Amino acid sequence: MSLTERDAQVIWHPYTQMKNPLPHIPIVRGEGVYLFDEHGKKYIDAVSSWWVNIHGHAHPYIAAKVAEQLNTLEHVIFAGFTHEPAVQLAERLLPLLPGTQTKVFYSDNGSTAVEVSLKMCLQYWVNTGQKQRRKIIAFKDAYHGDTFGAMSVSGRSIFTDPFNQLLFDVDFIELPNAGNIEQLKSRINYLSNEVACFIFEPMVLGASGMLMYEPQYLDQLIETCQKHGILTIADEVMTGFGRTAKYFSCEALTTEPDIFCLSKGLTGGTMPLGITTCNDKIFNAFLSEDKLRTLYHGHSFTANPVACAASLASLDLLLQPETLLNIQRVTLRHQEFAETLIGHPKLKNVRQTGTILVMEWETGGDTSYLNGLRDQLYLYFLDRGIVLRPLGNVLYILPPYVISDEDLAYIYQTILQALKEI
Ligand SMILES: *Cc1c(COP(=O)(O)O)cnc(C)c1O
Repeated sequence: MSLTERDAQVIWHPYTQMKNPLPHIPIVRGEGVYLFDEHGKKYIDAVSSWWVNIHGHAHPYIAAKVAEQLNTLEHVIFAGFTHEPAVQLAERLLPLLPGTQTKVFYSDNGSTAVEVSLKMCLQYWVNTGQKQRRKIIAFKDAYHGDTFGAMSVSGRSIFTDPFNQLLFDVDFIELPNAGNIEQLKSRINYLSNEVACFIFEPMVLGASGMLMYEPQYLDQLIETCQKHGILTIADEVMTGFGRTAKYFSCEALTTEPDIFCLSKGLTGGTMPLGITTCNDKIFNAFLSEDKLRTLYHGHSFTANPVACAASLASLDLLLQPETLLNIQRVTLRHQEFAETLIGHPKLKNVRQTGTILVMEWETGGDTSYLNGLRDQLYLYFLDRGIVLRPLGNVLYILPPYVISDEDLAYIYQTILQALKEI
C-alpha cells in the first residue's frame, strides 16, 4: 500500500471533507523552500506550510539547536520549575515587541495564545472589581483560532456554523476605513465601560481572505479603547516575525496594545509553541494575597524546552541582517509583480503587505470559500510544483523569506499563465 492509501485508512485531516478528498501528497523531505514527495517530485512551499515557516524547511542551524536541547532537557513541568531556554526566549523577545511588554506566558499554539489573552483580559476586570466588563469587541471578519474562545471572537462563517449557538456573544465591528472610522469610534464610545477588551489582527486579517487595512485607523480604534480603559490584544500569530516586513506588524502603530499573541513563525515553523505577552498593567492586576486572583491556566507542555530552543534559534536567524535583506527583497519583488497585475480583468483586487501578496479572482458573484475555482487553482499550481492554497477565490503567496528570485519569478510566471488558462 502506498503512504497515501495507508493514510486514507487511518487519518482524519484538518479542514478536509473526508469523503473523496483530493489525495494527500506524501512528503518525505524538506529543504529550504522545497518539499519533496516520495516520488522525488519537488514543490515550492509558497504558503510556508500554513504560514509557519520563515527560514526554510529542515534548517540545519535550528535542527542542530533542537537536537542539542533534546539531548539536554526535553521537557520539565513549568509550574514550580523553570529552565534556560524559556527564560532566555522571554528576555530576548520582550524588548523586540512594540511598546513595553514585560511578561511572557507560554502555551502551545496560536489558538491557546488567544485563549490566554482573553482570560487575562476578562479576569483583569474581575480582579480589579469591574465585573460588568464582559463584552469583547472584534472584527467581523477576524480569525483567531479554532478552540471555543478563539472561535467565539472570530467572525461567524461556515467554519463556526455548527457551533454558533454555543459561542459567546461578541460585539463585531467592520474593518476601519476613512468612511466608517467615526461610526466605529462612536460604537466603542457607546459600549464603553461594558467592554473588557478589543482583539484584532493588526493590518492583515489572515484566514478570512488576507484582508488589509490601514494602521492609522487601528491607532484611532486603540486610542478610543484606551480612553475607556478597554484592554487591547494584538493577535500577531500570523503577522509576527517579519511577515509584514516589520518584525511585528504593530510597529506601524503609534499606540501600544496591552497584549500580544504569538505563534506560527515563533519557532521558525519547526514545532508548536504559543506565547501571550502582556504589560505591567495586566500583570499587576493578578498580584495579590488573594489566591482567587491567580491566572489558573496552563498546559502539559507549557514552555517546552525544545520548542523554546527552536524559537531561540529562529530568532538568531531572524535578527541576522541577511534575513532582513531577504524580507525586503521578497517585499520588493511582490510589489513589482503586483504593479503588473493592477487592472487585470480576471482579478478583482490585488493587494500586498510585506511578504504577503494577494490576488482576488473574479468569480462572477460566487465569492464563497467553497467555490469551484479554489480547487482548480490549487491543483493547477500543484501540477506545476507550487504549493498555493487559495482561500476561496483569494490566491495569495506567503513564502519563507529565503525564497530565491528565480523561484519567485517561476511562481509569478505560473500565475500569469493561470490567468490566461483558467
Ligand atoms: C493561525 C492563527 C491563529 C490560530 O493559531 P493555531 O496555531 O492554528 O491554533 C490565531 N490567530 C491568527 C491571526 C492566526 O492566523
